[in-house]
This record gives sequence, C-alpha cells and structure tokens, in this order.
Amino acid sequence: MVKILLTNDDGIDAVGLRELEAGLEGLGELTVVAPDREQSASSHALTLQRPLRIEERGPHHFAVDGTPTDCVFLGINQIMRRSRPDLVISGINRGGNLGDDLTYSGTVAAAFEGTLLGIPSLAVSLEIEREHHFATAARVAKQVAARVLETGMPADTLLNVNVPDLVFTALKGVRITRQGKRTYSDEVRENVDPRGRRYYWIGGAVLPDDAAEGTDSAAVRAGFVSITPVHLDLTNYRVMDELEGWGPIL
Ligand code: MN
Repeated sequence: MVKILLTNDDGIDAVGLRELEAGLEGLGELTVVAPDREQSASSHALTLQRPLRIEERGPHHFAVDGTPTDCVFLGINQIMRRSRPDLVISGINRGGNLGDDLTYSGTVAAAFEGTLLGIPSLAVSLEIEREHHFATAARVAKQVAARVLETGMPADTLLNVNVPDLVFTALKGVRITRQGKRTYSDEVRENVDPRGRRYYWIGGAVLPDDAAEGTDSAAVRAGFVSITPVHLDLTNYRVMDELEGWGPIL
C-alpha cells in the first residue's frame, strides 16, 4: 500500500491539513506529522539546540514541538523509519506560496526536506481570497499526487502547487509555471508595550504586482492551478559567465 507523509506549517490543527487528509482518502495510508503550533515563514529551519518531543494525538497523527522540516525529518527517519513514505505532501497552506514567498515558506521547505531525503514531495497552497476553498485544493492535491505516484518525480525536484480560491469546477486548468516575484510592504510597525518598552512588528501586506506572463502568480490570478518544478540547486547559471568576466579576483 502507498504510504504518504502529510505535514504543514500552519500547525496540526489547521483546517488546510484536515481538508488535505480528507481529500486524499483512498490514495494510500496517510500519516500526519505536523508542528504543534503555527510555524509559517519558518523556512528550512531545523531545531538543533534543544530536544524535540513527539506527541501521538491518535492513530497515524503526531504533533512535534518543532518546525515543518523537523517534522519531515522525524517523520521519515523515526516515525516511519520501518516503512518509508512514497510521497510527502505539505499543506494545504492558508495562502499562496508564490514568487519570493518560496524562500520564507515552511510549507515549501518541508517539501525540500522530503526531496533531500529522497522522497518525491509536493507543496500545496491555496491562494486565499474570500471563500477559502480548501476542498478544491485537496482535490487538486489528490490528482497531482496520483500522477506523481504513477509517473515518478524528476530527480532533485519538488512540485510547488498553488490553487486559486475557486470551486473545483471553476478552475481553468493547470499551468506549468516559473517562480515569479512577489512584493510585500516593508513597513515596520513600531509600538509601545504595557511596560513602556518599544516593540516592532514586521510582515506587511502583499503589494499588487504585474505578474509577468508564465509565472506562478499570473497563472493563479487567471484561475489556473500553478505547478512550478523547483530544484534544490540554487546556482544562478545565467550569471556564471558574467562573474568569470570579472577577471582574476585574487
Ligand atoms: Mn503557513
């Protein structure tokens, strides 16, 4: 039987994870290993400076007091060590993981970790607008997952899947996309706490962008599911020649 490890960065009690689990019913044996609280924007952090605890919440449900990457690491190397998963699915994130979000995202990082550990991995996010159609994203996740199980995943690649906030039948289809750009307001909120000390709260709103043709953002905005193949090699090959052109550096 196919074994699937599910995780997220919104925490084990998040609606998106519950809906993902419900939507994948029948695809295989599901094991949830997820952070015990929200860990959004935790990126690819591993907890190395303190021990981790695994709390069994029920059959095949485990909460970890760590990051999404900790969850995938413990899921594969501890909880499922005797029967490694065939697939890792991270999500469904509450909010798109588009453009520059990728390097901050705990959702995508969990799929990175699965890929590093040799397991085909998907990150699935819902670009929340008004109605929170997690069930749509869950149906998309099931179909993409079935396809990956059937066809296999290209080496060193994860799929970053973003779903528009629409009913399933309103989706226009799927577009294979490249990572675009996303800009946030870089505003810092300064305020004063009850003890008279200043504090700062970062994390501004998404700013409208021009969503260039062929990007993840453009596809989702046009009502398509966006699938971006993401590889682990961060080298910018296009500028290697330019750097060579600098001449001797030492
Ligand atoms: Mn999140």
